[in-house]
Amino acid sequence: MQLFYELIFLLMGLCVGSFVNMLVYRTAVSYGLEKDKILRKVKDGKRSERSFCDFCGKQLHWYENVPVVSWLIQKGKSRCCHKSLPLLYPIIELVTGLLFVITVSQLGLTLSLIPGLVLVTMLVFSFVFDLKYMLLPDFSTVIMVVMVGILVYFGWGQVSPLQYLEAAVGAMGFLGILYLVSKGKAMGFGDVKLAFFMGLLLGFPSIVVAFYVAFISGAVGGVGLMLAHKAGRKSLIPFGPFLILGTFIAWWWGKIIWYSIW
Ligand SMILES: [Zn+2]
Repeated sequence: MQLFYELIFLLMGLCVGSFVNMLVYRTAVSYGLEKDKILRKVKDGKRSERSFCDFCGKQLHWYENVPVVSWLIQKGKSRCCHKSLPLLYPIIELVTGLLFVITVSQLGLTLSLIPGLVLVTMLVFSFVFDLKYMLLPDFSTVIMVVMVGILVYFGWGQVSPLQYLEAAVGAMGFLGILYLVSKGKAMGFGDVKLAFFMGLLLGFPSIVVAFYVAFISGAVGGVGLMLAHKAGRKSLIPFGPFLILGTFIAWWWGKIIWYSIW
């Protein structure tokens, strides 16, 4: 039975991952970071709410829009105009599917699963958006803060809500100082706002684990990128994805990691 549930949530996660890909694109369009390809193609100016091809704006059939499967069958190309579809699409779908399975195994089939899954969805969205556009959309952070509030209401918290609030303010203050000291070079203000959410979700000591993972993986990622660019060209890397990676690890395994170290 357990396996049956996990399969259902895996499939659900694949579809939600597909939704995240679409949300990233539409948010980028509304922020003016990406040109709206479909509006250029549709003559009467009425945009379709159905999925469309990234390149020519043609409406997709349902079978061209099956998470992961369509990408594999079409060998990573669009059926209509044979352009390469980003590998990031099926990866996001798969990762979201796996995260859904982990979330249901951690939270169980309880009411807190609903805000938990919304939270996971927005974390994946913010991760991808920051990776692509170096920006953490505020609306995503706000939704996540609200979801944590609902989680705490359903009794997710192991300590008092006040202690979570203290961790949130502390985490925001910590990144806020780094933001000010580095004059916004080490991270953006979106990361500072994300830190508030992280503290609120994780509390102490898991928030420390999250930052630890974020800074270590960020340093490794930064060095890796520098080596890839060899010439040492100054390229900015977003910090948000590393913070979100740390959030996932600390959310599910923070206490285990903390108490195995100390
Ligand atoms: Zn096309």
